[in-house]
Amino acid sequence: AKAWLLAKHFDGFPTESNFELKLEQLPEPKDGEVLLEAVFLSVDPYMRPFSRVRMNEGEVMIGTQVAKVIQSKNAEFAVGSHVVGRCGWRTHTVCDTTGLTPVMADWPEDVSLSLALGAIGMPGLTALYGLEEVLGLQAGETLLVNAAAGAVGSVVGQIAKIKGCRVVGSAGSDAKVAFLKELGFDRTINYKTVGSLDQALREAAPEGYDCYFENVGGQFSSVAIHQMNNYGRIAVCGCISLYNDTTPQTGPYPHLTMIFKQLKMEGFMQSRWEHKHPESLKRLMAWMKEGKLQCREHITEGFDNMPAAFMGLLQGENTGKAIIKV
Ligand code: NDP
Repeated sequence: AKAWLLAKHFDGFPTESNFELKLEQLPEPKDGEVLLEAVFLSVDPYMRPFSRVRMNEGEVMIGTQVAKVIQSKNAEFAVGSHVVGRCGWRTHTVCDTTGLTPVMADWPEDVSLSLALGAIGMPGLTALYGLEEVLGLQAGETLLVNAAAGAVGSVVGQIAKIKGCRVVGSAGSDAKVAFLKELGFDRTINYKTVGSLDQALREAAPEGYDCYFENVGGQFSSVAIHQMNNYGRIAVCGCISLYNDTTPQTGPYPHLTMIFKQLKMEGFMQSRWEHKHPESLKRLMAWMKEGKLQCREHITEGFDNMPAAFMGLLQGENTGKAIIKV
């Protein structure tokens, strides 16, 4: 068995030296336990900020995977079945079954199980709750989303279209912007080549934005907030542009605009609505089967390439969900 450790806390952008590959000898599962083999693993932006607050050096990197049960001393987890588990960056895990969720019953045979880490998993749920629970998005409204070609953003835009909204998406390459058009986004912005972001946002939605699904933060946010309509709502899902900063960015702060336009801003984590997950996953799956939700993935082959895949994610290499196939 192999595991990737956090060798050294990140300081600025991650490098190979932050990680260490460890070979492990696993114990036999005890009563109630299972032995899992990773099939697909997820790399996610949260691993960068969470590692600082939730992890010590020398520990296995945190993370979720789809795994196959290959040995079982727990009657509820049959050998050959698949689970989603927070096992960390490991090829094999012996554990009791707390925190393991069987992959949704009736998972169609022709749908890759990797989607349980993406559009029909945590990122898809994040998109859904951000739109429904936080923003309360209504038909006819205009929505802005950034990191729009990523795992969360691409689902945000598609659900907003299902709900009858006008959607503007921002992403960091022409290929990503072309992908957003394929997904049915009304207007797209390549924030890296656009020149004046302020002007581009204004032109993309002369009517202004009612809702803003925030994945990026920092400079993008301080520009975008001024384009909101009165009583606009902002769901703060992430701020990836800040995760690798060694010194905090400062202003300009949009507080006056927030007051004059009476905006509402709310940070959230998808785990707040855990009780709704089973029902919500069914809704996402139904949209996918109806062809209303396209699920793009960026697949890296090989467990040994996990650090490279993680660093690639933070540099925008992925279109859709970044996945590692063992
Ligand atoms: P993505 O698949 O969107 O991948 C990250 C993307 O972010 C990259 O592809 C890149 O796209 C973009 N990016 C990277 N660096 C920067 C930068 N400096 N400025 C602007 N964009 C950048 O990841 P996810 O969909 O998994 O996550 C998106 C956001 O949602 C993250 O902020 C994440 O932390 C947050 N999140 C929050 C959750 C919650 O419960 N609150 C749950 C899941 C995710 P590009 O080429 O467009 O720059």
